[in-house]
Amino acid sequence: MAAAGEQLSFSDAYARSIVARVRGIEPGDPPLLLLDRTVFYPGGGGQPADAGAISRSADGATWPVRSARKVEGEIVHELEPAGAQTTGALPAVGDVVTAEIDWPRRHMLMRTHTALHVLCGVVWRDYGAQVTGGNMEPGSGRMDFEFERMSGELVDEIEAKVNAELAAGRDVRVRVLPRDEAFAIPDLIRTKINLLPPGIAEVRTVEIVGLDLQADGGTHVANTREVGGIRVTGYESKGRINKRIRIELVEE
Ligand SMILES: [Zn+2]
Repeated sequence: MAAAGEQLSFSDAYARSIVARVRGIEPGDPPLLLLDRTVFYPGGGGQPADAGAISRSADGATWPVRSARKVEGEIVHELEPAGAQTTGALPAVGDVVTAEIDWPRRHMLMRTHTALHVLCGVVWRDYGAQVTGGNMEPGSGRMDFEFERMSGELVDEIEAKVNAELAAGRDVRVRVLPRDEAFAIPDLIRTKINLLPPGIAEVRTVEIVGLDLQADGGTHVANTREVGGIRVTGYESKGRINKRIRIELVEE
């Protein structure tokens, strides 16, 4: 099998578009498009995949991309089904195209995702509660914790603490570590690094400097100040121990 195409969403979260060549096209519903490089995030870790568009350099023909996903290590773009297309014919192998993500949506996901890390870091640091899962949409998200003593009063306190950390302007650092090095970091062990597939040689880590460190594949902003503020919109018990906290971004 040929080497996987270049996947910029993992190395540069701020890359919005890229010129690429079509490596494969599979007509169908939806049609699937493979490029030699892409800025699309394929989804994972609770962060939805990017949407956007592919446009051909030769004639400007444009195809909306409704989603992306990973198939056998490659990022595959799902084009809008044929009936909804304005252009008709599909791109062909070898075509030079520009792949561009829906940046306002992605950037909101990056802010949301980073806010969830800060929430996770605060809840661990100040209450010793471990995160067990999470999910997000652009502008809102939820996290589940093993957090027996969570209450309405604590939720207000948590909201204030998260906003203080966001305003503190903490840098967000992404690194790729050899497996052994990553598995030696105590903070990573607590965030279920053990669930990573046994075969992988490297682990990507995301650090909110001074607050939170996780094994993570998603996209984040470079500094917590870029998130703005959050509001806790709800919390619920998913059992005696498991609690869910919902947040949303506060737009100024
Ligand atoms: Zn993350």
